[in-house]
Amino acid sequence: MSDNKVVVIGGGYAGALAANRLRMRADVDVTLVNPRPEFVERVRLHQFAAGTGQVIVNYGTLLGEGVRLVVDSAVRIDIVARTVLLASGRTLDYDYLIYAVGSTATIPPSVPGAAEFAYGVAEFESARRLRARLEELPPDAPVTVVGGGLTGIETAAELAEQGRAVTLVCGRSLAPSFSPSGRRAVARWLSRHGVAVLEDVMVGEVRPDALVFAGGAAQTSALTVWAGGFGVPGLAAASGLQTDGLGRLLTDETLTSVDDDRIVAAGDAAAPSGRPLRMSCYAAGPLGAQAADTVLSRIAGTEPAVINLAFSGACVSLGRRMAVRQIARKDDTAMNAYVGGRMGAVIKEFTCKFAVTRIRREAGRPGSAMWLKGGPRLEQSAPSIRGS
Ligand SMILES: Cc1cc2nc3c(=O)[nH]c(=O)nc-3n(C[C@H](O)[C@H](O)[C@H](O)COP(=O)(O)OP(=O)(O)OC[C@H]3O[C@@H](n4cnc5c(N)ncnc54)[C@H](O)[C@@H]3O)c2cc1C
Repeated sequence: MSDNKVVVIGGGYAGALAANRLRMRADVDVTLVNPRPEFVERVRLHQFAAGTGQVIVNYGTLLGEGVRLVVDSAVRIDIVARTVLLASGRTLDYDYLIYAVGSTATIPPSVPGAAEFAYGVAEFESARRLRARLEELPPDAPVTVVGGGLTGIETAAELAEQGRAVTLVCGRSLAPSFSPSGRRAVARWLSRHGVAVLEDVMVGEVRPDALVFAGGAAQTSALTVWAGGFGVPGLAAASGLQTDGLGRLLTDETLTSVDDDRIVAAGDAAAPSGRPLRMSCYAAGPLGAQAADTVLSRIAGTEPAVINLAFSGACVSLGRRMAVRQIARKDDTAMNAYVGGRMGAVIKEFTCKFAVTRIRREAGRPGSAMWLKGGPRLEQSAPSIRGS
């Protein structure tokens, strides 16, 4: 048995890639903990909810030889004993731990009725509930999607393409992270497909069959989908580890926890230097690779590298045949340029497939994952917050 026991918590884009990459060293013993026995392609959950796509991938086709999958949930990390307590009551020992628990569908408790009556789309279980409810509803029943960001737009568009009567309540604006031209392209598609887009409108209350806006007006809504932003699991905070305001694990630029050299974070649940990258599968894969490299450096007694990732844009699907790919600078700020139409959809489909293919390739050839490097974090003085 090796002395280099690594437990990876979370088998998403970051955790699965990290688990495979750790096998660059033959003497590392890798255990991956995930609550489901299958990988979920979260980037397709809006398709799954609308009945236009599948999200389940068999881990048997994704994980490299030697990666042990434990189907369970971590409920507490004990950094002194170096153990992870699982929901089943079992504990796992580790020498190093990769924290890759991702993000969650969040419905704010501050909006009356939202937690009871709105449906989430950002997790498999909530998307499955949403799909079941949609199947019960007549096709012309009014549906409201709350959230003008990319997840809300993708969900509204997917449902509108199915012929649903959709209202998209944006809160502030539609696609705020996009450039004016990218935003206009999204708005045009939504308008052509009959989606009523409400900007600068906040939801004050959700009822089983209606929405009440902050101004007091009500609108019939047979089904309300909440896509107003992601939260993160509370495991780090519950384990006494330092987190940012949302609950992401605070790390330095090597992704090492500020509390403990043995814990390294990746993906949506990581907050390097308190300046997290955009939650995305685009960043999760490279961060998973980086987390594995940091652990391997520590095992080898070498200095781990700092994050090296450049963004290139973000893509929003508009049903199955169109998408808008916003072009961005390396720091993820939008340029006034986009690729739309069918070419946008081809790019979007490629990136969704690539995120899974990259994990599978890493299973066959540990260390092979590639990504766009040279992001601004390297150039800026990105001070380590370790020890602060
Ligand atoms: C509808 C939708 C569309 C999206 N589209 C895009 C897109 O086009 N491009 C893009 O870049 N991003 C997109 N995203 C965001 C992207 O899916 C996430 O940013 C990405 O999944 C993050 O990867 P991750 O590995 O950090 O987390 P995840 O993929 O969420 O994986 C985390 C895993 O950890 C597990 N886990 C959680 N808690 C525990 C625990 N206590 N114990 C054990 N396991 C645990 C979870 O169940 C999950 O399996 C989209 C998201 C949604 C919902």
